[in-house]
Order: sequence, then structure tokens, then C-alpha cells
Amino acid sequence: MAFTRSLLLAEIVSGMALTIKYFFKPKVTLNYPFEKGPISPRFRGEHALRRYPNGEERCIACKLCEAICPAQAITIEAEPREDGSRRTTRYDIDMTKCIYCGFCQEACPVDAIVEGPNFEFSTETREELMYNKDRLLANGDRWEVEIATSLKADAPYR
Ligand code: SF4
Ligand code: SF4
Repeated sequence: MAFTRSLLLAEIVSGMALTIKYFFKPKVTLNYPFEKGPISPRFRGEHALRRYPNGEERCIACKLCEAICPAQAITIEAEPREDGSRRTTRYDIDMTKCIYCGFCQEACPVDAIVEGPNFEFSTETREELMYNKDRLLANGDRWEVEIATSLKADAPYR
């Protein structure tokens, strides 16, 4: 039997049939980075600090995110402004410590600190992963549309 199968090249024929079958099926691979797959609204990527539509920072310097962070990756300093509102003067995240647990986002009462959809922020040095307030606010400005869409999509399940 094995001799007959070898003689008729049965393995090659069945292998080619399988190849031809998948040749006409939709491709499951993506041509990354030119093509990207969908990600969940709950995806926990690079951090961002958000603003209100009028440009004002959302963060009220309550430090809940700093307190809850299990990796102690967040450092906040704050002072009252001249108008009496309380805002951060320093907001740093050591991204080399962060474990992407999402607790900071969960703790924030004003949806200021969030983990956005960006997963392409690898660096060549550790220093580049020390994020400051300017960097985090810039991330928020860059990703606001996607972040707001994700938060809205996830809101019914919170
Ligand atoms: S995701 Fe978790 S570990 Fe990272 S900064 Fe937020 S609370 Fe800390
Ligand atoms: S980001 Fe949110 S939780 Fe953290 S200090 Fe600002 S308002 Fe408070």
C-alpha cells in the first residue's frame, strides 16, 4: 500500500491540492507595517494625557494615578495656578517600569491619563522611554480621535 502511494506520488498530489485550495482563499497574513489588524477599544498601548475640546488639560493633579500605580512609574508634582485651579507642573512616566495594567486609567476621575491605541513606540535607548508631561500631552493631541472613539465604544461595559 505504501509502495503504491509512493508510486502514484499521493503525498505530493494531496499537498499540491491543499496548496491550490488555500491559494484561492482570503489571505490571513497582513503586510505589516503597511497593513494593520483591528485592535480592541480596551487595548492598552502608549500613554497619553488628554485635553478638553477648549484645549484645557483634563488632569486636575489629584495624584490618584500616581498612588495606584503598582510599578511606581508615575511621578507628579502640582501647584495651584493664579486662577486657583490645581494643575500638574510635572507629570512623568517611566515607561521602562510600566506594566500596562491600566490602573492609572481606571483611577482617573476625569479620563485624563489613558492608554491609547499606539503600540509602535519602541526605542533604541532607555532615556527615550522616560516620558514627561509635554510628551504625554502631545500623545493626547495626536491620538484624541482614536482615544475618544475607543472610550465611547467601551463605555456601555463599564
Ligand atoms: S499602566 Fe499600570 S504600571 Fe503603567 S503607569 Fe499605569 S498604573 Fe502604572
Ligand atoms: S491623570 Fe487623572 S488620576 Fe492622575 S493626577 Fe491627573 S486627574 Fe488625577
